[in-house]
Amino acid sequence: MTTAPLPRFRWPEGSNCAAVLSFDVDAESAILQVDRKYATHATTMSHQSYGPRVGVPRLLEQLRKAEVQATFFVPGFTAECYPDTVRRIVADGHEVGCHGYLHELPHDLNLAGQSSVIERSVERLEPLIGARPVGYRAPWWMLSLESPEILAAAGFAYDSSLMDDDVPYLLGSDAGTLVELPVHWSLDDWEQYGFFVDPPLGSALEPPRKLLELWTGELEAAHEEGCLEVLTMHPFLSGRPARSRNIGRFVEFARGLGGVWFATAREVAEYSRDVLPAASARRLRSALDPDYGIRDQRTSR
Ligand SMILES: [Zn+2]
Repeated sequence: MTTAPLPRFRWPEGSNCAAVLSFDVDAESAILQVDRKYATHATTMSHQSYGPRVGVPRLLEQLRKAEVQATFFVPGFTAECYPDTVRRIVADGHEVGCHGYLHELPHDLNLAGQSSVIERSVERLEPLIGARPVGYRAPWWMLSLESPEILAAAGFAYDSSLMDDDVPYLLGSDAGTLVELPVHWSLDDWEQYGFFVDPPLGSALEPPRKLLELWTGELEAAHEEGCLEVLTMHPFLSGRPARSRNIGRFVEFARGLGGVWFATAREVAEYSRDVLPAASARRLRSALDPDYGIRDQRTSR
């Protein structure tokens, strides 16, 4: 006799799983972070400015039609250049989280550098949101080992950058605990649509139906197991006309399944903090830590 596996997470009454639609509003910042010389490459910059200028308004319309609230992670530089875009996101009731200032990689900065990037970004976002952001996503999802402590000390409630689970969990640090909402490359639009000539950051031009197939396939399994599905999109990529229609198609598919809780990242984080035992918090460890396990496996051979 076989027994059905337990759901991986206890979701709110009536929900089998949760789905978060998230958008990283990189705009020019991700390219300028590679090299400031791209500031004079007009076409490259225009590819990026399409996000806040055209992509975000179209995506907001698609979200309105689908009746779903989403989370937009915005670099401080984007907020500075396109304050009205951020205001429109907020006016539609969506969440705005922090995504660095100029898309800096936390693990490339020292402690003081990491903290100042967060503060600089929060300073730009706070007046537009009307409150300090509580959510963080590291640029390129590249968290550093120090990030949890820096974020907890700065008052953040959650992060959404790591890949070591597919349900929410508590991420501990000396300064407090964050909720982690894990992500994955397979649910990111960059891998399917990212096409850049210079800088060479991708050469993919896949049809929207391929990304939809990845999203819905993952959702069917998440629905069976009780997982969290975090979709990540970039307005300069997914904000194009045909691609933006994937939002409505995905929501329709999820509603057909039934029991999919659509929520902002903040809502999932707040719910998760209430149901996760505080003692279950995990801490990030360096892979060179002697008790990490890698060394044990090597020496046991
Ligand atoms: Zn980004």
